[in-house]
Amino acid sequence: MTTFTLENKRVWVTGHTGMVGSAICRQLANVAGVTLLTVERKALDLTRQQATEQWLAEQQPEVVFHCAAKVGGIEANKTQPVEFISENLTIGLNVINGAAKYGVQKLINLGSSCFYPKLSEQPIVESSLLSGALEPTNEAYALAKISLAKLCQFYHQQYQKDFITVVPTNLYGPGDNFDPNAGHVIAALIDKFVMAKKQQLSSVTLWGTGKPLREFMHVDDAASGLVFLAQHYSNDKLINLSGGKTVSIYQLAQTIAQIVDYQGGILLDESKPDGMMKKSLDDSLVSQLGWKPKITLIQGLKSTVEFYLSRVAPYE
Ligand code: GDP
Repeated sequence: MTTFTLENKRVWVTGHTGMVGSAICRQLANVAGVTLLTVERKALDLTRQQATEQWLAEQQPEVVFHCAAKVGGIEANKTQPVEFISENLTIGLNVINGAAKYGVQKLINLGSSCFYPKLSEQPIVESSLLSGALEPTNEAYALAKISLAKLCQFYHQQYQKDFITVVPTNLYGPGDNFDPNAGHVIAALIDKFVMAKKQQLSSVTLWGTGKPLREFMHVDDAASGLVFLAQHYSNDKLINLSGGKTVSIYQLAQTIAQIVDYQGGILLDESKPDGMMKKSLDDSLVSQLGWKPKITLIQGLKSTVEFYLSRVAPYE
């Protein structure tokens, strides 16, 4: 059931140079008549309310995919909580309040699987939000994302705005941040294993115990899901975007080592945090609507390694 059509709409993707934003732009190229609106960071600083409102007033988007955010892996989140909470709240308030003020018909806000309580039952259902304490390593980011999800819900309830929050599981793919210190685990490990092979290092060191379990989704699947939900979901309740298999960090590392053909050892640095021991999202709601991811972890990892080798590594 289509609840909203994207065809022939003016669509603003915030954060269009990021991993998720750029994947959404690629997906929207398949939707008839969409006018894609994007703006470089140097031309519009989303932490500036007045500038953000002016952009909305001039460009008159009818739909907003709000993907702009300060993101990072476990270490970056742990060491810069001030920046993670402030930037994400400020940008989100400016974009969401501005969208409401300037007549945006549909807004798709990105939640995050890390905003569910640390000890949630697995796989995590949407109604777990705010039912317990957060994982401390990403509390700042999570608090900002929870506030913005609630803001969208309140707009729905108080002003009947079709603003939805979609919660993707852990994402990876082209456009990810491959920095070995600041990136999320898949991108960081691709960088570490490729470098170890090039430099003929005898081992690669993982953070933590290698035991945490994570569910991963390729960003092209996530973008297809977000574009699908923009058209098929209009509700004040959160919706998870997931449906993949769960793997341990150690299994993931072994798979990446195989793909890059790295023959050395895999060590563990247990002084680094594990974060949540298990994180996977219940996909009942989204699968009932008729959507499932298509890209297997192996396929997705292979194409992401190819992307890294052709687009990222040669420039270093
Ligand atoms: P999280 O899903 O929010 O915990 O974020 P990450 O993707 O950064 O980390 C996922 C898991 O991978 C955590 O248990 C990390 O400790 C583990 N991990 C192992 N090696 C690495 C690494 O090199 N970088 C990152 N970011 N995580 C790693």
